[in-house]
Amino acid sequence: MEDFVHLHVHSNYSILDAISSIDSLVTEAAQQKYSALALTDHGNMHGSFEFYKTAKKAGIKPIVGVEVYCARDTVKESRTKDNPTDHMVILARNETGYKNLLKLVTRASLEGFNYVPRVDPDMIREHREGLIGTSACLSGGINSYAIGEKFYNRSTKTYEYTDPDYSKALAYADRLKNTFEEGCFYLEIQDHSTDTDMGLNQCRMESQKWMVDKQKIVTETAIRISKELNIPLTVSNDVHHTKQCDWNAKDTLFAVRTISKKYDPERKLTTDSDQFYLKSKTEMLDRFRDFPEAINNTVLIAEQCDLNIAVGENHIPVFDTEGQDVIKYWRNKIREGFEAKYRPGTEYRTEAVQRVKYEIEVIESMGFVSYFLMVADFISHARGIDIPVGPGRGSAAGSIVSYCLGITEICPLEHKLIFERFLNSERISLPDIDIDFCKKRVGEVYGYAQQKYGEKNVARIATFSSMWARSLIRDVGKAYDIPKEEISAVASSIPEGAGEFRAKIEEQTEENELIKAYVSSSEVWKTMLDDAKALEGAKKAVSKHAAGFVIGDDDLTKYIPLMRPVKNKPGKKKNQVEQEASIDTTDTMMFTQYPMDDLEELGLIKMDFLALETLTIIQDCIKLIQKYEGIDVTTNVTYNNLLSPTTYSLMSLGNTLGVFQCESPGLRHLLMQIRPEQFNDVVAAIALYRPGPMDAIDEATGMTMMDKYVQNRTFKRQDDSFTWEVLHPEMDKILKETYGIIIYQEQIMDICRKVCGYTYNQADKFRKAVGKKIPELVAKEKKAFMKGALGQGNMAQSDADKLFSQLETFARYGFNKSHAAAYAVLTYRTAWLKQEYPIYYMSALLNASSNKSDGIDKRKYVNDCLLNNIKVYAPDINRSELTVVPESDGIRCNLPMIRGVDGISEKIIAERKENGKHTSFVDCITRLSKVGVNKTSLDALINSGSMDSIGNRDQMSHYGWDLLQAVKKKQKREEGFASILDDDELDIPDMSSAPVLDKKVKDSMSVKYLELYSLEDK
Ligand SMILES: [Zn+2]
Ligand SMILES: [Zn+2]
Repeated sequence: MEDFVHLHVHSNYSILDAISSIDSLVTEAAQQKYSALALTDHGNMHGSFEFYKTAKKAGIKPIVGVEVYCARDTVKESRTKDNPTDHMVILARNETGYKNLLKLVTRASLEGFNYVPRVDPDMIREHREGLIGTSACLSGGINSYAIGEKFYNRSTKTYEYTDPDYSKALAYADRLKNTFEEGCFYLEIQDHSTDTDMGLNQCRMESQKWMVDKQKIVTETAIRISKELNIPLTVSNDVHHTKQCDWNAKDTLFAVRTISKKYDPERKLTTDSDQFYLKSKTEMLDRFRDFPEAINNTVLIAEQCDLNIAVGENHIPVFDTEGQDVIKYWRNKIREGFEAKYRPGTEYRTEAVQRVKYEIEVIESMGFVSYFLMVADFISHARGIDIPVGPGRGSAAGSIVSYCLGITEICPLEHKLIFERFLNSERISLPDIDIDFCKKRVGEVYGYAQQKYGEKNVARIATFSSMWARSLIRDVGKAYDIPKEEISAVASSIPEGAGEFRAKIEEQTEENELIKAYVSSSEVWKTMLDDAKALEGAKKAVSKHAAGFVIGDDDLTKYIPLMRPVKNKPGKKKNQVEQEASIDTTDTMMFTQYPMDDLEELGLIKMDFLALETLTIIQDCIKLIQKYEGIDVTTNVTYNNLLSPTTYSLMSLGNTLGVFQCESPGLRHLLMQIRPEQFNDVVAAIALYRPGPMDAIDEATGMTMMDKYVQNRTFKRQDDSFTWEVLHPEMDKILKETYGIIIYQEQIMDICRKVCGYTYNQADKFRKAVGKKIPELVAKEKKAFMKGALGQGNMAQSDADKLFSQLETFARYGFNKSHAAAYAVLTYRTAWLKQEYPIYYMSALLNASSNKSDGIDKRKYVNDCLLNNIKVYAPDINRSELTVVPESDGIRCNLPMIRGVDGISEKIIAERKENGKHTSFVDCITRLSKVGVNKTSLDALINSGSMDSIGNRDQMSHYGWDLLQAVKKKQKREEGFASILDDDELDIPDMSSAPVLDKKVKDSMSVKYLELYSLEDK
């Protein structure tokens, strides 16, 4: 029998308010032998499912809830003195309650947002089935009436308090009682008084006393109301941190959140107590010994709650086949693609028939037919409206069905890509097909998804940014008022790193010399770092996942909570606890409240639409060729043509600046060493040039994987009889294309299959388990592997041992060949364009890089043009367009490339198109004046050299401004007296006396405006 249950608990999803991870709360609760626990974060359900899973796993009954923000009267009005925003705890009793809660928090964000997402009593009433409400903390509505509440008096411009009003509290309690189902509303009492000497200053002692006094009033009022209205009492501890000793870190978090100084003598909080932790049953029973019934009610509430969230169901929408049978429809689609791609008599046809049958069977049995059709539909829709789509990415390129449906563009048989690397029929998990779209137009595909599957069925995915070493030291250091210079010196000495490589404060305090020095000389630094450590990993903000979104078969709020993205601004005023926030109106799509990993378990299919600039560049280049040469090279660019020797020579020369994935000096060097002759060589180069294989040393030879590959390839090409040793004869064939080196995960799978007799599914499991380096898993796999290698593989024990350790190394560094091959297609395409149509390709590249402000790309590509004998003509007011364009044997820079002219270029060019070329300096200035040129843009136009074709730069530079003034004066006169003064003379200055500028000065000026060094002056 339970004797108390925590029903009011915040995790760090109460962002910047509570600090405990769900894990730490559940672990602590389990340690304290609680058999049930609630989670009630502020206004959101981000952590609900994670909490549900974690608690179940720990054998604790999860009670899913929310401490909602509730408009006192209605969400139809914004927050005012009479309609303030209160707190209220709502718990889900069962599945119906949970679903209602999903609706409520979603509606709060959609309909009730005003600084925070709000519900109101009427809204709750609509969704009350299966819910329990409790009156929450001092910020609850009833309690606010009971203690008198703070409000902003607009006329006196000060904060004031209303008088306590019992009758209003009573009336509101009655309203809330009737809001919920019969007997489902409780009055909550809290007591956060403390005996600890927390070292608080006078101001904060007073605020603590204020809180304790008010909580007493709330308790007295609750008892009275309880009797009058027959509303049961309940007890809670408003948990914001797991252990008592965490309070200091939580206090620091508040200082960070409100951008105030931790030791500011005037800083105070209404929660200045160390009692907001997950107390033990004994502590709670002891503290509320006068309220046995209220304590017991927490147990009764917990007993009423019994929630099961359906997992493992599949909510993929059924693809609309316009009345046809889905299976028939999809098989037909595949057949169509198949016949086009594997014509009778072609090389892979027989093998392809087998493979396609097998894949169809697996995909159908796993229930993913609709998913494939959806993906194929997105792609064909995009292609249909001329939005470039990538040739495939990730493991999906290993599927022949994907290939036949047009999802990918490479034949998996030709490139030895394995289906099971993509879909393992023994491990039921939703397939993951990511798609690259043109950067400029990916938004249109999202729009299509909304329109096709219904706005309510589609949502983007939320992610959470957390506080890690670097930013923590900045934020917490600031709260501790540590000098700026010290903070930024330390913060910038901490390596960036992400994921498992992320810097931890703990190790930094041990390794970082600068931190060590500060810690040893300053007590403040020591305390600050302790706090920072306690806050490490706490959630900092909700943001949007870069590319992911989910599509469901129904209104998503049946399965998950949604929200509109919010723009947060931390409060600027001292002690202002509430953050200012507003709905981000730039995004019309809804967002999931649950993070990505939860969504798959709840049966929702996730897709990633990525924005890839290379696709935009390729399309722009093809369009330029069409416009200037009149040829359509689209078909030449497609994958069928991966054979051009000159394209491979371009790569062999390392002339790959601007070629997809081949820009870095290191990769260019590798290409020069490998000297690719065919597509496979490019795939290998891409797979090898990554941190793992670049550094992984092969113990037998002491060489890196990359060097060994280069060496074997070089030897083999010098002497065809050159061989390398393999541990098993079957490996010879598998490793032939990579000169005896295991580069791809697919090769590891093939080796397991051939040597140990594994199925592809088993081989995929092996690769995954061994690559993860988890000792128990590795040991288990090794046992099975040895059995197979010694038995079926007929290997000697020592060789099998060696082979296993080889595979172990390569499983860690091996690359997914499907992905490398699909991406290498883009490498080839861009290299082909650069080789065959360099002028057009470099123009397209420069246009793409012109949006980047740093100028580095631009300089890099201009220099590359010069190296490739492409003339680069400086911007010219009479010739330049808005974009970089080909011109005779080179390219013409665009007007916006001149710094300071960007804003007005469009007008200048439009005017020129209408009235023809500028014929003289005076003509030019007169016309520029009409489009609104100012001193900055005029200086930029002249000194960048863009007007050299119409006058003498020395004179224009010296007199340009004077002439513009004169022109403006004349224009003004004409505006006023056009009719009588139409022969008004322009005061043209005598320009012959202009000083002659030194060439060096002129050059440095044009560099300043163009950020470029040497251009042709034609
Ligand atoms: Zn509250
Ligand atoms: Zn609370």
